[in-house]
Amino acid sequence: MESGVVAVNNHNYESKATSTITIKGILSLLMENIDENGRKRVISLGMGDPTLTTLFHTPNVVEDAVAHTLQSHKFHGYAPTPGLLQARIAIAEYLSRDLPYQLSSDDVFITCGCTQAIDVSVAMLARPGANILLPRPGFPIYELCAAFRGVEVRHYDLLPQKGWEVDLDAVEALADHNTVALVIINPGNPCGNVYSYHHLEKIAETAKRVGTIVIADEVYGHLAFGGKPFVPMGVFGSVVPVLTLGSLSKRWIVPGWRLGWFVTNDPSGTFRNPKVVERIKKYFDLLGGPATFIQAAVPQIIALTEEVFFKKTIDNLRLTADICCKEIKDIPCIFCPYKPEGSMAMMVKLNLSLLEDISDDIDFCFKLAKEESVIILPGTAVGLKDWLRITFAADPSALGEGMRRIKSFYQRHARKL
Ligand SMILES: *Cc1c(COP(=O)(O)O)cnc(C)c1O
Repeated sequence: MESGVVAVNNHNYESKATSTITIKGILSLLMENIDENGRKRVISLGMGDPTLTTLFHTPNVVEDAVAHTLQSHKFHGYAPTPGLLQARIAIAEYLSRDLPYQLSSDDVFITCGCTQAIDVSVAMLARPGANILLPRPGFPIYELCAAFRGVEVRHYDLLPQKGWEVDLDAVEALADHNTVALVIINPGNPCGNVYSYHHLEKIAETAKRVGTIVIADEVYGHLAFGGKPFVPMGVFGSVVPVLTLGSLSKRWIVPGWRLGWFVTNDPSGTFRNPKVVERIKKYFDLLGGPATFIQAAVPQIIALTEEVFFKKTIDNLRLTADICCKEIKDIPCIFCPYKPEGSMAMMVKLNLSLLEDISDDIDFCFKLAKEESVIILPGTAVGLKDWLRITFAADPSALGEGMRRIKSFYQRHARKL
């Protein structure tokens, strides 16, 4: 039955979708590869789920807010498909704090995490012949969505020597009249970049010049711990229409709650075209959205979370990023071109010429998992071969131990001169 369906519909895009590597897919293969007879405890620096460490925990008031809406018996029913009004208002106000204009609740649509907001954006923009500009390295969910929707992917590079900024010349060269969006991720996963006001302005101007819109993935919004503050792309919404995607997942450390948003940042009104609004609303009729009682708690979650919780998260991330960078300097075969300033991940370059029997990043990660029970993500999974993505949202002791094991792995596999 299944194979019959596949045979009938077996066009290019389906096979592209099934062959797209996902982070979860490759991490589970790595986990299977761990030597179960080994005595070492598993150290995972692969998955970006901060709830897996004791270092990060959502505030009690946030859990209480959800318990309260659940027990109020008022939110067992369906929410309106674009989201519960009180949640849309609260998110509009929350995001407007950092904008030179005010968002309205009509600009905000509630999604199942940022993942569904990504799917909504791609689905809304898909049409025959469309292409989308994605960062390399990037977040593979975008490639997967594009493949399912039949949207052609064109990659522009992020430039490690310039703090992983967008290669704007490449964007100009890649874009054409079928380009439906330029995607940026800021603060960045997998690179840990935080873009300056000036760079974001140039991105907006470039997108305007080539006649496309910007999709700004700000799921790590405010998780910036370096010198630069987080500036939302929506600040440039009057230069170019911006779709802002976000969620509670990372900043509030509740990725399992699946509460995200898709927001039109567009004071000049491109997205207010009734046909566009109608299309977005229809699509949300298909989706369902996150549980109503979690939506209902959003105003309280935003209002009651204290600044000190956010500060603690930032301080912890700064500390663990520092530990990571310091230990990496001690391991000759990996090199960090840019110290992360935000998010929970960083990219390091693998120097294969210093290793005897490692063929590439995937080989490195599989052998590392087997021999040392340390999981890190091969760069290939995020579009950059012979690089590695290290997630530093981990307990400092686990991080230090993981780095020591990578070092002894290196020493065992070092090329003999
Ligand atoms: C984690 C992540 C997402 C998905 O966020 P959820 O709210 O968990 O769906 C989207 N984009 C990037 C860049 C991420 O790192």
